[in-house]
Amino acid sequence: LYGAVREESDKPAETRDGCRIGLYINAGLSAELESIYGAAGDGVGLYRTEIPFMMRERFPSEHEQYQMYRAMLEASPNKNITMRTLDVGGDKPLPYFPVVEENPFLGWRGIRMTLDHPEIFLVQLRAMLRASLDLDNLKIMLPMITTIYEVSEARRLIRQAYYEVAEEAQAEGQALKMPEVGVMLEVPAVIYQLPQLAAKVDFFSIGSNDLTQYLLAVDRNNPRVADLYDSYHPAVLKALKQIIEASVELNKPVTLCGEMAGEPGGAILLLAMGYRKLSMSGFNLSKIKWVIRKVSLEDARILLEEVLEMEHPSQVRERVNRHLEALG
Ligand code: PEP
Ligand code: MG
Repeated sequence: LYGAVREESDKPAETRDGCRIGLYINAGLSAELESIYGAAGDGVGLYRTEIPFMMRERFPSEHEQYQMYRAMLEASPNKNITMRTLDVGGDKPLPYFPVVEENPFLGWRGIRMTLDHPEIFLVQLRAMLRASLDLDNLKIMLPMITTIYEVSEARRLIRQAYYEVAEEAQAEGQALKMPEVGVMLEVPAVIYQLPQLAAKVDFFSIGSNDLTQYLLAVDRNNPRVADLYDSYHPAVLKALKQIIEASVELNKPVTLCGEMAGEPGGAILLLAMGYRKLSMSGFNLSKIKWVIRKVSLEDARILLEEVLEMEHPSQVRERVNRHLEALG
């Protein structure tokens, strides 16, 4: 495998008909970036900042967070690192911040919690912004956005943290750049608010794991309904197609950072829809690059048209697998 990865890492992620695809990594631990996969990708499309929070016994201080984020941004100064603000709740509890809810996935998750606790949010934002000083490769991403007001509130707090850090930096003769700010598209409600969201942010990133869960009303971790949890469901495919078409029209950059991007069949369908930036676990990167280099967009579009007519996810899977087999 290492041989194949190294071989692939030298080649561009380009389809047979010459379309360059941006490949990014999903990370939660800085060690993942030091792996060989880091060199092959175009940057980090999703840094799940809650992972280091979950591995501790208390909230990390601003300084501890600064050190983590700085190490990450410094590790690849020429590549963008998209840091998602704390996305706890749902299936990601913090041992030192207990929340008891009957429906955690419909509860106090992600941006909902951090907007209720601006002191937690501001410490994280300050740490990120300080870490980005003189590097300028940070992007900030907000999870679980449902309502435009949440974006306005988050941006207000980002501005507040920015002014504080910029002032401190100025005292030391340094200038702080305002990073790009984007939102996760993972709650179905945002599909109907894309123009309003686009006016407030610099980029979109689709969380297809949660988008699938919430569109289909299927708990992504419940084995009893695991059969029903499927990103090849026609409704999910149609939603993804609708989002990319709207984003292109709105001229808003969009990445897809759910598991689907790291599955060969999922990646082909996404390319056919028009997605040009995919973010995935590092260990899927070389496999997806291989698929991209085999595929032609023209053939993929014909495949997509066919599967969009299908009624059952298993029919889609079977058809997509046949396409993959034909690739070799
Ligand atoms: C997603 O929901 O697809 C996503 C990328 O975020 P997470 O898996 O961390 O919820
Ligand atoms: Mg998510």
